[in-house]
Amino acid sequence: MSQVNKPTILVTGGAGYIGSHAVLALQRAGYEVIVLDNLVYGHRELVEDVLKVELVVGDTSDRPLLDQLFTTRDIAAVMHFAAYIAVGESVVEPAKYYRNNVSSTLTLLEAMVAANIKRLVFSSTCAIYGEPQQIPMTEAHPQNPLSPYATSKWMVEKILADFDLAYNFKSVAFRYFNASGAESSGLLGEDHNPETHLIPLILLAALGKRESIAIFGTDYPTPDGTALRDYIHVTDLASAHVLGLEYLLQGGESQAFNLGNGSGFSVREVIEAAQQVTGREIKVVERDRRPGDAPILVGSSAKVQQILNWQPQYADLSKIVADAWQWHQKRHG
Ligand code: UDP
Repeated sequence: MSQVNKPTILVTGGAGYIGSHAVLALQRAGYEVIVLDNLVYGHRELVEDVLKVELVVGDTSDRPLLDQLFTTRDIAAVMHFAAYIAVGESVVEPAKYYRNNVSSTLTLLEAMVAANIKRLVFSSTCAIYGEPQQIPMTEAHPQNPLSPYATSKWMVEKILADFDLAYNFKSVAFRYFNASGAESSGLLGEDHNPETHLIPLILLAALGKRESIAIFGTDYPTPDGTALRDYIHVTDLASAHVLGLEYLLQGGESQAFNLGNGSGFSVREVIEAAQQVTGREIKVVERDRRPGDAPILVGSSAKVQQILNWQPQYADLSKIVADAWQWHQKRHG
């Protein structure tokens, strides 16, 4: 473990899936952490019992609470994960997404500037690119977000650029491809309610908690007809966040980085990997394409590898699925 006296980092959404893994990575790197989470979707026990980190139950829209935290605690930077993430829901309830993901973030950013805390690591998404025009997608890919969820993340990236110009506010935005897997020790994992993501749904089917897994679309222009995605282990995402933070603490300029593994796996390949890992028969049903899904989303992470010297440790799909399986058995088995 690392040297003493590392600064305190505020992690919003630290009781959620990616946030909790980032908290663990920060702890392992020797940082003090305070989690701010409204527990709408987060899990109190992950923070209090597993991570054993201070939890402030509250919302990033609560300016008095933020002012109090920033003036009474010696916080050097913020990692901002708190957001709603359901793409489909965002289409039917856009205000919910703009209010929580954009307006609350603006409150957070204003409170940070007022307290002279001007370093933020932000959870963004490859969904800001929209329909892929070339594969793998680089950070220079045109941006055309196709849902209120994606637009909300895109808007925050724009706001961050404006805050840099106005206040010298420095940020690192990570555009995730498909976050998946779980902490290898089995301490943490993915537990969304409702669950919409492919790997947890397959594993819930393997556990008998769901009847089957639906394949959304078998007529894509891909080798087996199902969509290709770039699955990245959540522990690799978390390690990138610590590198991004350290880059900012050392005076780095604002950046946006893709985080993916650079290779695509089809829905059928993921189901096959899960069958191998679990040794269980998983019932598959073929369905129509899900509206808004791209055939192929694969990212280039050359920029983050070069600038932050980030290297994924768990790029193997079987490892991603095996770690997720360990967690799901513990959580739901
Ligand atoms: N998918 C599927 N069945 C499901 C859930 C997802 O076939 O029950 C497909 C989805 O169409 C996409 C891929 O699996 O091609 C990954 O979907 P997920 O929702 O996990 O992440 P996304 O790529 O949409 O962010």
